Amino acid sequence: MTARILIVDDDDQIRNSIQEFLTILDFKTYSAESAEQALSFLKTRAVDVIITDIIMNGMDGLEMTRIIKDTYDTDIIVITGYTGDYSYEEAINKGADDFIFKPVRFEELLLRLKRVLRERKLTRERAEILEKLKELAITDDLTKLYNSRHFYEQLANEINRFNRYQRPLSLLLIDVDHFKEFNDTYGHLEGDKVLHKVAGLITSCLRAMDTGYRYGGEEFTVILPETNSDAAMAVAERINNVVKNELFIEGIQKDLSVSIGVTQYLPGELLTDFVCRADKAMYMAKDGGRNRTALLLP
Ligand code: GH3
Ligand code: MG
Ligand code: MG
Repeated sequence: MTARILIVDDDDQIRNSIQEFLTILDFKTYSAESAEQALSFLKTRAVDVIITDIIMNGMDGLEMTRIIKDTYDTDIIVITGYTGDYSYEEAINKGADDFIFKPVRFEELLLRLKRVLRERKLTRERAEILEKLKELAITDDLTKLYNSRHFYEQLANEINRFNRYQRPLSLLLIDVDHFKEFNDTYGHLEGDKVLHKVAGLITSCLRAMDTGYRYGGEEFTVILPETNSDAAMAVAERINNVVKNELFIEGIQKDLSVSIGVTQYLPGELLTDFVCRADKAMYMAKDGGRNRTALLLP
């Protein structure tokens, strides 16, 4: 992407000559005659780098730098005279990314601009990689649902929220019935496809604030904030039905079902007790004949 550069200087001649120079080099350039004008420009347009004079009528370039660095992801190169009242340290302390002296030599300006842009690109790539790694660390590879590590983190968050605001909170624990038999008959690979599909079916039954997780193996959990046990049972029944009605292997009507344990959080109880109760409810559904939901209240 062409880098977008905003030049801020109240001296028309300097501003225009820098803009002309950078435009010839194929940068996308904009200009402002004052700090105030630059700040209002940024409200509607994003730029990558600002090159600004320090001493200007109205707000000075360093004050503008401080404000911009607080709010925008923009790099700033400040220009000043050797005799200026501002030191290099002051400019850096306000957040300036680089510094050039007047009279501006174009080749120096270009070198500094390229360095700032290179660093900017590296910073962005690093942030993207970090974001990706964070996402990977909480995602289950097969189903693309969140994994059990994230489940425990989120459940702890929801419990904290519950204990602060006294809102209802429910939990589902979903286990695929006779899944070993399915694997033995159709193979592990077909089994994996089923797990992927079940994950999608679960997600399709959830509201925006609900989250589904692969708890492990052929087991899934769903955290239902702001939901009492009646409403949670309704969600569980819905999941139970869509799985039951899904045609899992094309050409063969292969029935698959899930057993779902449902429970609601008891104020003050431990996270582990809450999860254990959902697990017990799930086993009640298994004992009751599978392909069903069971509610166990505290
Ligand atoms: P139940 O109705 O009592 O739950 O019976 P089940 O066969 O589903 O239960 P069991 O715990 O005996 O077996 C779980 C099976 O799930 C065995 C295991 O091979 C299978 N499984 C666990 N994780 C995966 C996976 O990632 N892919 C596949 N294909 N199978 C998996
Ligand atoms: Mg199981
Ligand atoms: Mg099972």
